[in-house]
Amino acid sequence: ARAAAATAPVTDGALADGTPVPLLVNLGNADAAAEAVELGAEGVGLFRTEFLFLSANQAPTVEQQREAYTKLLAAFPGKKVVVRVLDAGADKPLPFLNDAHEENPALGLRGLRALRASEDILREQLTALAEADAATGADLWVMAPMVSTVEETQYFVDIARDYGVKTAGVMVEVPSSALLADRILEHADFASIGTNDLTQYTLAADRLLGSVATFQDPWHPAVLRLIREVGDAGRATGKPVGICGEAAADPLLAVVLVGLGATSLSMAPTALADVRATLLEHTLEGAREIAQAALAADSAASARTAAQEAASTRK
Ligand code: PEP
Ligand code: MG
Repeated sequence: ARAAAATAPVTDGALADGTPVPLLVNLGNADAAAEAVELGAEGVGLFRTEFLFLSANQAPTVEQQREAYTKLLAAFPGKKVVVRVLDAGADKPLPFLNDAHEENPALGLRGLRALRASEDILREQLTALAEADAATGADLWVMAPMVSTVEETQYFVDIARDYGVKTAGVMVEVPSSALLADRILEHADFASIGTNDLTQYTLAADRLLGSVATFQDPWHPAVLRLIREVGDAGRATGKPVGICGEAAADPLLAVVLVGLGATSLSMAPTALADVRATLLEHTLEGAREIAQAALAADSAASARTAAQEAASTRK
């Protein structure tokens, strides 16, 4: 079966009842685009732009950025490509943007907060994206990281629109924005849940600290409840809710996320095949029942077990 799968054309992501679940990829630079297309990526759910900035002592020029974004967009003609504006700070510190003396950088001036404090960098990034968009034929979506309020959402959507961005959204990575997702989605065109940070901030456990690594588990029902809030808000407003944290790469958790209301999943290219195969084993109704089983648990481990049991009886 594996050999046949390798030669058969790759199908788009869908549940057993035909409900489409677009399978997108997380990319850290444009060089990885061709391989992702080969593995059946239907688009890009998270393009991390930090690579352009992390290796330098100053921000890249508009021209350097335009070149990188053009290369990315050109690899996905007609497809959705979600670019995240710079997420600096905390686990991605930038000497020219962040204050190295913050005592709690994960709770400091990171993500959109840092860009607002250095707005020229955000404006240059949006300029380069607009130019790359005009030169290529992808469906460009742009989103901001680490958004924690409705006001920040309005700020980002307004400034993105000033640069001609047609689809402007926010990442939901902080409990406050998950809880206010219905209000946030009145302004943003879409939400994309970053489960890595959402887990870190929900469990109050540094995602880089080994001694608290057991808390960094997106199966935790507290995280799942927050994701449900966002899924419900997406349904109520008719706006897309993607997942772009590592959780989407876990095939059974991917089913749970769809059951909670996620409308697309983005993951490392190598995870596409397994997630695609597992989604095909469940209907939307089944995914919702499996999600309910996980939500009712009181720990990450029991949520996983409950989902496994529900999944094997639903098959
Ligand atoms: C996340 O936090 O889940 C996410 C996708 O963003 P990053 O891992 O780049 O912080
Ligand atoms: Mg994040």
